[in-house]
Amino acid sequence: MIETIKDTVIIGSGPAGYTAAIYAARANMNPVMYTGMQPGGQLTTTTDVENFPGYPDGITGPEMMEHLQKQAERFGTQIHYEYITNVILATEPGKLHTIKSSSGQEIQTRSVIISTGATAKYLGLDDETKYAGSGVSACATCDGFFYRGRPVAVVGGGDTAAEEATYLAKLCTQVYLLVRKDELKASKVMQERVFNTPNITVLFHHELVGLEGDKVVEKAKIVNNQTHEISELAVDGVFIAIGHKPNTELFNGVLKMDDIGYLITEEKTTKTNLPGVFAAGDVQDNVYRQAITAAGTGCMAALDAEKYVAEFFH
Ligand SMILES: Cc1cc2nc3c(=O)[nH]c(=O)nc-3n(C[C@H](O)[C@H](O)[C@H](O)COP(=O)(O)OP(=O)(O)OC[C@H]3O[C@@H](n4cnc5c(N)ncnc54)[C@H](O)[C@@H]3O)c2cc1C
Repeated sequence: MIETIKDTVIIGSGPAGYTAAIYAARANMNPVMYTGMQPGGQLTTTTDVENFPGYPDGITGPEMMEHLQKQAERFGTQIHYEYITNVILATEPGKLHTIKSSSGQEIQTRSVIISTGATAKYLGLDDETKYAGSGVSACATCDGFFYRGRPVAVVGGGDTAAEEATYLAKLCTQVYLLVRKDELKASKVMQERVFNTPNITVLFHHELVGLEGDKVVEKAKIVNNQTHEISELAVDGVFIAIGHKPNTELFNGVLKMDDIGYLITEEKTTKTNLPGVFAAGDVQDNVYRQAITAAGTGCMAALDAEKYVAEFFH
Protein backbone atom coordinates (compact mmCIF):
# COMPACT_ATOMS: atom_id res chain seq x y z
CA MET A 1 0.00 0.00 0.00
CA ILE A 2 1.45 3.38 -0.98
CA GLU A 3 0.65 6.26 1.38
CA THR A 4 0.45 9.92 0.47
CA ILE A 5 3.70 11.58 -0.54
CA LYS A 6 5.78 12.89 2.37
CA ASP A 7 8.21 15.80 2.48
CA THR A 8 10.76 13.87 4.46
CA VAL A 9 11.32 10.41 5.92
CA ILE A 10 13.87 10.01 8.71
CA ILE A 11 15.50 6.60 9.07
CA GLY A 12 16.78 6.06 12.63
CA SER A 13 15.85 7.44 16.04
CA GLY A 14 19.11 8.39 17.76
CA PRO A 15 20.12 11.98 18.59
CA ALA A 16 20.67 12.72 14.87
CA GLY A 17 17.24 11.42 13.82
CA TYR A 18 15.31 13.12 16.62
CA THR A 19 17.07 16.45 16.10
CA ALA A 20 16.33 16.27 12.37
CA ALA A 21 12.71 15.48 13.30
CA ILE A 22 12.42 18.50 15.61
CA TYR A 23 13.75 20.88 12.96
CA ALA A 24 11.78 19.32 10.08
CA ALA A 25 8.54 19.28 12.09
CA ARG A 26 8.94 22.93 13.08
CA ALA A 27 9.52 23.75 9.39
CA ASN A 28 6.10 22.22 8.60
CA MET A 29 7.53 19.20 6.78
CA ASN A 30 5.42 16.69 8.78
CA PRO A 31 8.32 14.26 9.10
CA VAL A 32 7.83 10.52 9.34
CA MET A 33 10.38 8.65 11.41
CA TYR A 34 11.21 4.94 11.39
CA THR A 35 12.87 4.06 14.69
CA GLY A 36 14.55 0.81 13.68
CA MET A 37 15.24 -2.04 16.08
CA GLN A 38 16.77 0.26 18.68
CA PRO A 39 14.30 3.10 19.38
CA GLY A 40 16.34 5.95 20.86
CA GLY A 41 19.61 4.63 19.43
CA GLN A 42 22.90 3.83 21.14
CA LEU A 43 22.36 6.06 24.16
CA THR A 44 19.57 3.78 25.37
CA THR A 45 22.32 1.29 26.24
CA THR A 46 24.16 3.57 28.65
CA THR A 47 23.52 4.94 32.09
CA ASP A 48 25.05 8.37 32.75
CA VAL A 49 25.46 10.96 30.04
CA GLU A 50 27.41 13.88 31.50
CA ASN A 51 28.59 15.71 28.40
CA PHE A 52 25.38 16.67 26.61
CA PRO A 53 24.88 20.43 27.14
CA GLY A 54 21.80 21.42 29.12
CA TYR A 55 21.97 18.73 31.79
CA PRO A 56 24.17 20.16 34.59
CA ASP A 57 23.57 17.10 36.80
CA GLY A 58 23.88 14.58 33.97
CA ILE A 59 21.05 12.35 32.77
CA THR A 60 20.63 8.69 31.89
CA GLY A 61 20.79 7.83 28.18
CA PRO A 62 17.21 6.41 28.03
CA GLU A 63 15.78 9.50 29.79
CA MET A 64 17.58 11.86 27.47
CA MET A 65 16.26 10.03 24.43
CA GLU A 66 12.72 10.16 25.86
CA HIS A 67 13.07 13.95 26.08
CA LEU A 68 14.20 14.15 22.45
CA GLN A 69 11.29 11.93 21.40
CA LYS A 70 8.73 14.06 23.25
CA GLN A 71 10.16 17.22 21.71
CA ALA A 72 9.94 15.70 18.20
CA GLU A 73 6.35 14.49 18.81
CA ARG A 74 5.29 17.84 20.24
CA PHE A 75 5.70 19.38 16.77
CA GLY A 76 3.94 16.53 14.96
CA THR A 77 6.60 13.97 14.02
CA GLN A 78 4.90 10.68 13.11
CA ILE A 79 6.87 7.83 14.64
CA HIS A 80 6.74 4.25 13.34
CA TYR A 81 8.31 1.50 15.45
CA GLU A 82 9.53 -0.41 12.43
CA TYR A 83 12.71 -0.75 10.43
CA ILE A 84 13.38 0.00 6.82
CA THR A 85 13.96 -3.04 4.64
CA ASN A 86 14.52 -1.47 1.24
CA VAL A 87 14.98 1.89 -0.44
CA ILE A 88 14.63 2.92 -4.05
CA LEU A 89 16.38 6.24 -4.25
CA ALA A 90 15.82 8.66 -7.12
CA THR A 91 18.90 9.70 -9.03
CA GLU A 92 17.57 12.97 -10.46
CA PRO A 93 16.48 16.07 -8.55
CA GLY A 94 12.74 16.55 -8.20
CA LYS A 95 11.91 12.81 -8.34
CA LEU A 96 10.39 10.79 -5.50
CA HIS A 97 12.17 8.21 -3.33
CA THR A 98 10.41 5.01 -2.24
CA ILE A 99 10.97 3.58 1.22
CA LYS A 100 9.75 0.13 2.32
CA SER A 101 9.30 -0.75 5.97
CA SER A 102 9.25 -4.04 7.89
CA SER A 103 5.44 -4.15 7.94
CA GLY A 104 5.41 -4.10 4.15
CA GLN A 105 4.32 -0.46 3.97
CA GLU A 106 5.65 1.60 1.06
CA ILE A 107 6.07 5.31 1.42
CA GLN A 108 7.01 7.93 -1.17
CA THR A 109 8.95 10.94 -0.09
CA ARG A 110 10.55 14.03 -1.54
CA SER A 111 13.59 13.74 0.73
CA VAL A 112 15.24 11.17 2.98
CA ILE A 113 17.36 11.72 6.08
CA ILE A 114 19.56 8.75 6.94
CA SER A 115 20.58 8.58 10.59
CA THR A 116 21.09 4.86 11.10
CA GLY A 117 24.21 5.22 13.27
CA ALA A 118 27.22 2.95 13.62
CA THR A 119 27.64 -0.03 15.92
CA ALA A 120 30.77 -0.56 18.00
CA LYS A 121 32.45 -3.90 17.38
CA TYR A 122 33.05 -6.18 20.35
CA LEU A 123 35.21 -9.28 20.72
CA GLY A 124 32.22 -11.55 21.33
CA LEU A 125 33.05 -12.56 24.90
CA ASP A 126 30.15 -13.31 27.26
CA ASP A 127 31.84 -11.09 29.85
CA GLU A 128 31.55 -8.04 27.58
CA THR A 129 27.78 -8.34 27.85
CA LYS A 130 27.87 -9.26 31.54
CA TYR A 131 29.86 -6.14 32.45
CA ALA A 132 28.43 -3.74 29.81
CA GLY A 133 28.24 -0.35 31.50
CA SER A 134 29.89 -1.84 34.61
CA GLY A 135 33.47 -1.69 33.44
CA VAL A 136 33.20 -2.39 29.72
CA SER A 137 32.94 0.49 27.28
CA ALA A 138 33.56 1.19 23.61
CA CYS A 139 33.97 4.95 23.99
CA ALA A 140 36.76 6.64 25.97
CA THR A 141 35.44 10.16 25.32
CA CYS A 142 32.06 9.09 26.68
CA ASP A 143 33.09 7.01 29.68
CA GLY A 144 36.77 7.74 30.44
CA PHE A 145 35.87 10.32 33.06
CA PHE A 146 34.16 7.64 35.17
CA TYR A 147 37.55 5.88 35.52
CA ARG A 148 39.70 8.86 36.45
CA GLY A 149 42.44 8.02 38.95
CA ARG A 150 42.05 4.29 38.26
CA PRO A 151 43.80 1.68 36.04
CA VAL A 152 42.20 0.58 32.77
CA ALA A 153 42.94 -1.54 29.71
CA VAL A 154 42.33 -0.75 26.04
CA VAL A 155 41.92 -3.52 23.45
CA GLY A 156 43.07 -2.84 19.89
CA GLY A 157 46.08 -1.87 17.82
CA GLY A 158 44.77 0.69 15.31
CA ASP A 159 44.42 4.45 15.37
CA THR A 160 41.24 4.38 17.47
CA ALA A 161 42.88 2.23 20.14
CA ALA A 162 45.98 4.44 20.20
CA GLU A 163 43.81 7.57 20.49
CA GLU A 164 41.66 6.06 23.23
CA ALA A 165 44.78 4.96 25.15
CA THR A 166 46.42 8.41 25.02
CA TYR A 167 43.12 10.09 25.95
CA LEU A 168 42.66 7.75 28.92
CA ALA A 169 46.29 8.16 30.01
CA LYS A 170 45.46 11.77 30.93
CA LEU A 171 42.70 10.61 33.28
CA CYS A 172 43.76 7.20 34.53
CA THR A 173 46.71 6.04 36.63
CA GLN A 174 47.72 3.26 34.24
CA VAL A 175 46.62 2.20 30.78
CA TYR A 176 47.43 -1.27 29.42
CA LEU A 177 47.12 -1.46 25.65
CA LEU A 178 46.40 -5.05 24.57
CA VAL A 179 47.60 -5.65 21.02
CA ARG A 180 47.00 -9.00 19.30
CA LYS A 181 49.94 -8.71 16.91
CA ASP A 182 53.59 -7.73 17.40
CA GLU A 183 53.04 -4.18 16.15
CA LEU A 184 50.57 -1.33 16.20
CA LYS A 185 48.55 -0.64 13.06
CA ALA A 186 48.13 2.98 14.14
CA SER A 187 49.85 5.79 12.24
CA LYS A 188 53.49 6.53 13.09
CA VAL A 189 52.51 9.76 14.86
CA MET A 190 49.99 7.96 17.05
CA GLN A 191 52.46 5.15 17.76
CA GLU A 192 55.05 7.68 18.95
CA ARG A 193 52.48 9.33 21.17
CA VAL A 194 51.64 5.95 22.71
CA PHE A 195 55.28 4.94 23.27
CA ASN A 196 56.13 8.37 24.72
CA THR A 197 53.34 8.30 27.29
CA PRO A 198 54.85 6.96 30.51
CA ASN A 199 51.66 5.50 31.97
CA ILE A 200 50.77 3.46 28.86
CA THR A 201 52.12 -0.09 28.81
CA VAL A 202 51.80 -1.82 25.45
CA LEU A 203 51.36 -5.58 25.74
CA PHE A 204 52.00 -7.06 22.30
CA HIS A 205 50.73 -10.56 21.51
CA HIS A 206 48.12 -10.26 24.24
CA GLU A 207 44.37 -10.79 23.98
CA LEU A 208 41.51 -10.30 26.40
CA VAL A 209 39.86 -13.62 27.30
CA GLY A 210 37.64 -12.75 30.26
CA LEU A 211 36.72 -10.35 33.04
CA GLU A 212 36.22 -10.81 36.75
CA GLY A 213 34.70 -8.77 39.52
CA ASP A 214 31.83 -8.52 41.94
CA LYS A 215 29.17 -6.64 39.90
CA VAL A 216 31.82 -4.37 38.29
CA VAL A 217 35.08 -5.19 36.55
CA GLU A 218 38.04 -5.67 38.90
CA LYS A 219 40.34 -7.84 36.78
CA ALA A 220 41.00 -8.54 33.13
CA LYS A 221 42.13 -12.05 32.18
CA ILE A 222 44.58 -11.94 29.30
CA VAL A 223 46.45 -14.53 27.28
CA ASN A 224 49.81 -14.31 25.56
CA ASN A 225 48.89 -15.76 22.17
CA GLN A 226 52.46 -17.03 21.61
CA THR A 227 53.16 -18.72 24.95
CA HIS A 228 49.44 -19.35 25.78
CA GLU A 229 50.20 -18.16 29.29
CA ILE A 230 47.19 -16.64 31.05
CA SER A 231 47.62 -13.73 33.45
CA GLU A 232 45.51 -11.10 35.17
CA LEU A 233 45.55 -7.33 35.13
CA ALA A 234 44.04 -5.37 38.02
CA VAL A 235 41.90 -2.86 36.10
CA ASP A 236 38.58 -1.15 36.77
CA GLY A 237 37.65 -0.60 33.15
CA VAL A 238 38.20 -2.17 29.75
CA PHE A 239 37.75 -0.15 26.57
CA ILE A 240 37.16 -2.17 23.42
CA ALA A 241 38.60 -0.14 20.54
CA ILE A 242 38.52 -2.50 17.57
CA GLY A 243 36.36 -0.36 15.31
CA HIS A 244 32.75 0.43 14.42
CA LYS A 245 30.41 -0.87 11.76
CA PRO A 246 28.23 1.81 10.16
CA ASN A 247 24.65 0.65 9.57
CA THR A 248 24.65 1.20 5.83
CA GLU A 249 23.90 -2.21 4.24
CA LEU A 250 20.63 -0.80 2.86
CA PHE A 251 22.59 1.64 0.74
CA ASN A 252 25.33 -0.66 -0.58
CA GLY A 253 26.04 0.08 -4.23
CA VAL A 254 23.67 3.06 -4.16
CA LEU A 255 25.26 5.71 -1.97
CA LYS A 256 28.94 6.63 -1.85
CA MET A 257 30.74 5.16 1.15
CA ASP A 258 34.31 5.03 2.40
CA ASP A 259 36.27 1.76 2.78
CA ILE A 260 34.62 0.99 6.13
CA GLY A 261 31.08 1.76 4.95
CA TYR A 262 30.55 5.26 6.36
CA LEU A 263 28.36 7.41 4.08
CA ILE A 264 30.26 10.19 2.37
CA THR A 265 28.70 13.63 2.52
CA GLU A 266 29.63 16.78 0.66
CA GLU A 267 31.87 18.99 2.76
CA LYS A 268 30.04 21.34 5.15
CA THR A 269 26.63 19.83 4.21
CA THR A 270 24.77 16.57 4.82
CA LYS A 271 24.22 15.92 1.10
CA THR A 272 25.02 12.42 -0.14
CA ASN A 273 25.77 11.72 -3.81
CA LEU A 274 22.04 11.43 -4.57
CA PRO A 275 19.70 14.44 -4.73
CA GLY A 276 17.32 14.75 -1.79
CA VAL A 277 19.17 12.14 0.29
CA PHE A 278 20.92 13.44 3.38
CA ALA A 279 22.98 11.73 6.08
CA ALA A 280 23.46 12.75 9.70
CA GLY A 281 25.10 11.41 12.84
CA ASP A 282 27.47 8.49 13.34
CA VAL A 283 26.51 6.91 10.00
CA GLN A 284 28.63 9.58 8.28
CA ASP A 285 31.11 10.37 11.05
CA ASN A 286 33.98 8.08 11.92
CA VAL A 287 35.82 10.80 13.84
CA TYR A 288 33.71 12.36 16.59
CA ARG A 289 30.86 9.86 17.21
CA GLN A 290 29.21 11.87 19.97
CA ALA A 291 25.55 12.61 20.74
CA ILE A 292 26.08 16.35 20.38
CA THR A 293 27.77 16.07 16.98
CA ALA A 294 25.05 13.65 15.85
CA ALA A 295 22.41 16.16 16.96
CA GLY A 296 24.27 18.98 15.19
CA THR A 297 24.36 17.16 11.88
CA GLY A 298 20.71 16.11 12.39
CA CYS A 299 19.83 19.81 12.47
CA MET A 300 21.90 20.39 9.32
CA ALA A 301 20.18 17.50 7.51
CA ALA A 302 16.69 18.88 8.24
CA LEU A 303 17.71 22.34 7.02
CA ASP A 304 19.32 20.84 3.88
CA ALA A 305 16.20 18.71 3.24
CA GLU A 306 13.86 21.67 3.69
CA LYS A 307 15.85 23.77 1.22
CA TYR A 308 15.92 20.90 -1.29
CA VAL A 309 12.16 20.28 -1.08
CA ALA A 310 11.40 24.00 -1.42
CA GLU A 311 13.66 24.27 -4.47
CA PHE A 312 12.48 21.21 -6.39
CA PHE A 313 8.85 20.60 -5.36
CA HIS A 314 7.07 23.77 -4.27
C1 LIG B 1 27.51 2.60 25.66
C2 LIG B 1 27.61 3.94 24.96
C3 LIG B 1 27.76 5.09 25.72
C4 LIG B 1 27.84 6.33 25.09
N1 LIG B 1 27.96 7.45 25.86
C5 LIG B 1 27.97 8.66 25.26
C6 LIG B 1 28.04 9.85 26.05
O1 LIG B 1 28.13 9.80 27.28
N2 LIG B 1 28.05 11.03 25.39
C7 LIG B 1 28.00 11.12 24.01
O2 LIG B 1 27.98 12.24 23.47
N3 LIG B 1 27.94 10.01 23.25
C8 LIG B 1 27.93 8.80 23.84
N4 LIG B 1 27.88 7.67 23.07
C9 LIG B 1 27.89 7.81 21.60
C10 LIG B 1 26.49 8.20 21.12
O3 LIG B 1 25.56 7.28 21.63
C11 LIG B 1 26.42 8.24 19.61
O4 LIG B 1 27.41 9.12 19.11
C12 LIG B 1 25.05 8.70 19.13
O5 LIG B 1 24.04 7.90 19.67
C13 LIG B 1 24.96 8.68 17.62
O6 LIG B 1 23.68 9.07 17.28
P1 LIG B 1 23.00 8.72 15.89
O7 LIG B 1 21.69 9.40 15.91
O8 LIG B 1 23.94 9.00 14.78
O9 LIG B 1 22.83 7.13 15.86
P2 LIG B 1 22.40 6.01 16.92
O10 LIG B 1 22.23 6.53 18.28
O11 LIG B 1 23.34 4.91 16.67
O12 LIG B 1 20.96 5.57 16.37
C14 LIG B 1 20.84 4.86 15.19
C15 LIG B 1 19.37 4.61 14.96
O13 LIG B 1 19.19 4.06 13.65
C16 LIG B 1 18.22 3.02 13.73
N5 LIG B 1 18.36 2.15 12.56
C17 LIG B 1 19.43 1.41 12.16
N6 LIG B 1 19.11 0.72 11.05
C18 LIG B 1 17.82 1.04 10.73
C19 LIG B 1 16.91 0.66 9.70
N7 LIG B 1 17.23 -0.23 8.75
N8 LIG B 1 15.65 1.20 9.70
C20 LIG B 1 15.30 2.11 10.64
N9 LIG B 1 16.12 2.51 11.63
C21 LIG B 1 17.36 1.98 11.68
C22 LIG B 1 18.48 2.37 15.08
O14 LIG B 1 17.35 1.63 15.51
C23 LIG B 1 18.75 3.62 15.94
O15 LIG B 1 17.54 4.16 16.40
C24 LIG B 1 27.80 6.41 23.67
C25 LIG B 1 27.65 5.25 22.90
C26 LIG B 1 27.57 4.02 23.53
C27 LIG B 1 27.38 2.77 22.71
